[in-house]
Amino acid sequence: MKAVLDHIGIAVQDVEAALAFYCDALGLEVEAPEDVVTQRVRARHIPVGGPKLELLEATAPDSAIAKYIEKRGPGIHHITLRVEDIRAALDHLKARGVRLVDSEPRPGAEHAQVAFIHPSAAHGVLVELKQPAAQGPLLDVKRLGFGDLQLTMLHDGGFKLDGGAMFGVVPRPLWETLAPADDRHRIQLAMRPLLVEAEWGRMIVDCGVGDKMPAKQADIYALARERHLDHALAEAGLTSASIDVALATHLHFDHFGGATMREGAALKPRFPNAQYLIRSAEWEDATHPHERNRASYLQDDFLPLKDAGVVRFFEGDMTVKPGVRVERSGGHTGQHQVVFIESGGKTAVYVADMIPTTAHLQDPWVMGYDLFPMDTLAFKRRLIREAIDREYLILFEHDPRVSAGYIRENARGQRFVEQVL
Ligand SMILES: [Zn+2]
Repeated sequence: MKAVLDHIGIAVQDVEAALAFYCDALGLEVEAPEDVVTQRVRARHIPVGGPKLELLEATAPDSAIAKYIEKRGPGIHHITLRVEDIRAALDHLKARGVRLVDSEPRPGAEHAQVAFIHPSAAHGVLVELKQPAAQGPLLDVKRLGFGDLQLTMLHDGGFKLDGGAMFGVVPRPLWETLAPADDRHRIQLAMRPLLVEAEWGRMIVDCGVGDKMPAKQADIYALARERHLDHALAEAGLTSASIDVALATHLHFDHFGGATMREGAALKPRFPNAQYLIRSAEWEDATHPHERNRASYLQDDFLPLKDAGVVRFFEGDMTVKPGVRVERSGGHTGQHQVVFIESGGKTAVYVADMIPTTAHLQDPWVMGYDLFPMDTLAFKRRLIREAIDREYLILFEHDPRVSAGYIRENARGQRFVEQVL
């Protein structure tokens, strides 16, 4: 078995107080906070060469970290060894009669699979084995009851965009630890349409890229089509025919390319029973592209819908169905809109390209793609403030790992996402 030191876990009473030593006194850099809901801890990672120090604060009295501190006070809690195949490693240890805390892997921080070896076997040290998350987006279908509605984050596979363009004026050293770029300078993204199921029917918000893109473009964008929207719908027990309404945040190919499909030489609506809801002014912009947005508005994605007579155009901000309200943000495109889902006193927001990933939580981290970046900044500043204060559940369309979560702020004013899905 090959294993390398990944991190040293340190149990602390108060992670902010501990940072006063590790960051302020020692001068080390700290990564963004992460909550591991399943283990009821808040984690902060501090890189020290290859391995990291992991400061762990309990978020509930029944957390293992809380119990550890109660018994022995704060201090080194565990060391973590990274392995390539955690199941093989556990089998290897079981065959040698090593006492384990976890005989099966379980979810850990940073979406890794982890398992603990009992301290009695490791001469007094709690040893964690960790298999890091695979590269590529998480393509599972995740459901959530939300008041009277059922929300499902679907997916239409992964794709990649230029990292520099995704972060606009932000220098690469600042974003690349959050979103590592590949050898063609691209970062991994997901396409996640939202399914809303209600008494009135089933609505899909955005519908991914679809299958019309020529091979050269598909290569540039690293479209991953092994698993796509049909698979995701099937996982939710549905097909394209199950969709009653398809709503567009805007008509860029990575959001509404999946609205149409080829049948022989013809193009037709992809959801045969759906009415397509499109903001009129966005339609005007999309059908009259200029040099700057022509590559994003592909006419085959939406013109066939109008020809088939399945579009219902609407003007302005409105409630499009009970519990589903659109609000124009502008910024990314002149008519880009976000979707508020409101039910049972709770609010979720499908933010589309206003906050494309969890790496875009800082107000000025605005994409280079945006046509009106100052509008994005203004809308985003207000939306994120409101989302923190009123606990809106944020639904992320492009984040490769996080489908949904709450934006939180720590005592230092740093923002992070408490992952829900
Ligand atoms: Zn997008």
